Amino acid sequence: MKFELNSADSALIKEHFARIVDSSYKMLGYPTSRDFDYSELNEIMRYPLNNVGDPRVESTSILSTKKEENEVIDFFANLFRAPQHNYWGYVTNGGTEGNLYALYLARELYPNAMVYHSEATHYSVQKNLHLLKMDRIVIRSQPSGEMNYEDLEEILSQHRHRPAIVFANIGTTMTEAKDNVAIIKSVVKKMAIRQYYIHSDAALAGVYTALLEPHHPFDFVDGADSIAISGHKFIGAPIPCGLVIVKKNYKDRIGQMVPYIGSLDTTITGSRNGHTPWFLWYAIKKWGIEGFRYRAQESLDLAAYTEKKLQETGWPAWRNPNAITVVLKKPHEDIIAKWQLASEEDIAHIICMPGVKQEQIDAFLEDLKMYHKHELSLKPKAES
Ligand SMILES: *Cc1c(COP(=O)(O)O)cnc(C)c1O
Repeated sequence: MKFELNSADSALIKEHFARIVDSSYKMLGYPTSRDFDYSELNEIMRYPLNNVGDPRVESTSILSTKKEENEVIDFFANLFRAPQHNYWGYVTNGGTEGNLYALYLARELYPNAMVYHSEATHYSVQKNLHLLKMDRIVIRSQPSGEMNYEDLEEILSQHRHRPAIVFANIGTTMTEAKDNVAIIKSVVKKMAIRQYYIHSDAALAGVYTALLEPHHPFDFVDGADSIAISGHKFIGAPIPCGLVIVKKNYKDRIGQMVPYIGSLDTTITGSRNGHTPWFLWYAIKKWGIEGFRYRAQESLDLAAYTEKKLQETGWPAWRNPNAITVVLKKPHEDIIAKWQLASEEDIAHIICMPGVKQEQIDAFLEDLKMYHKHELSLKPKAES
C-alpha cells in the first residue's frame, strides 16, 4: 500500500502556502523576524529529536540536540553577563515558559514573596502568577511604558516584611519600554528588603539591548537573577521557542532524578523540542554578535525612518530610546487588519523586525494616507 495526499489536498497546501507568504509580507505589528533561512537544516525535520530532561544531563535517549542547546545557553549567558561558574538555562517553548520557570524558581526560594510588576507587563504573566498562586501588586507605569519607580518604592515600603520578587520588562509589549534593573535593585535595597529576586523579561528586546549603546541595565551584572527571551522574535525561528537563564545555585533546589528518562527533571515540560535548539545554534553560528548587532542597527534605522515619515505625514508617532517599535495613533480598522497591527485603546504599533523592508513601510504609509486623506489634510504638516 502507498499512502499519500490526493491532488486536491496537495493543491490546498500550495494555496495555504501562498496565503502565508502574503500574510508574512503584511505583518508589521507582531515581533517575529522574517530574515532567517534554516534550509541547511531541512534534514532534521525527518527525525524525532527530543531534549527531555535537564540539558546538562544527557538522558538515556540521545536522539537529542543537548550539545547544541548548551552552546546556545553558553552564548547567551555570556551576552547577558551571567556569573561564569554559576549559571544554568534551557531552551524553552517561548518567553512565556521562560518567565514561568523564573517565577517558579523565585517562589521556591521565597514561598512567601510578593511579586511586583508594572501595568505594561505582558498579558501572560498574570496567568503565570495565577498558576503559581503567587500574590502580586501592579506598579504604575510612566507614560512611556517604563515602570514608575516612585510608585515601586511607595508600594514596597508598605510590604517590607515580605520577600520581594520584582518582574522587570525589557521591552514592554505595546511601547517597547525598558525597566531599569539597576534602579529597581537600588529601590529594593533602599527599603532594606534583604530577601529579593529580580527577573528580566527580555522576550523581545534582550538580544539587541545587550548589544546597543548606551548600555541599558537589565543583565546579571546589573542585578537580574534570571533572564528570559523568545527565540522566534529577534533571533528568528520557524517554530516558537526561547530560552531562560538563571543562577545555578538557585536552580539546584528544583528537579529530581527520574530513572525512566535517565536525566534530571528540572524543566517545566517533560518532552522538549529538539529542533529549536538547533535553529538557535545555527543562528548564533551564522550571525554571531556582529551579525546580531548589524541586524539590530538595520531595524533601528527602519524604525527611525517609519517614525519620521509618519510625523511628516501629520500622523502622531513616537518611539522609546533604542526601540524598534514605533507607536502611532490607532488608524482605521481596515489598515489594522491588513497590516496586522497590534493595537490597544487609542494606540497601535509597528515593529521593525529584521526582514521588514522599507517598501513595506512605504506601502503601509500609502494606505494610511488614502484612508485618512480628509483628516490629514486638516492637520498642519510637520516640518520635514
Ligand atoms: C512576547 C513576549 C512574551 C511572551 O513570549 P512568547 O515567546 O510569546 O511566549 C512575554 N513578555 C514579553 C515582554 C514579550 O514581548
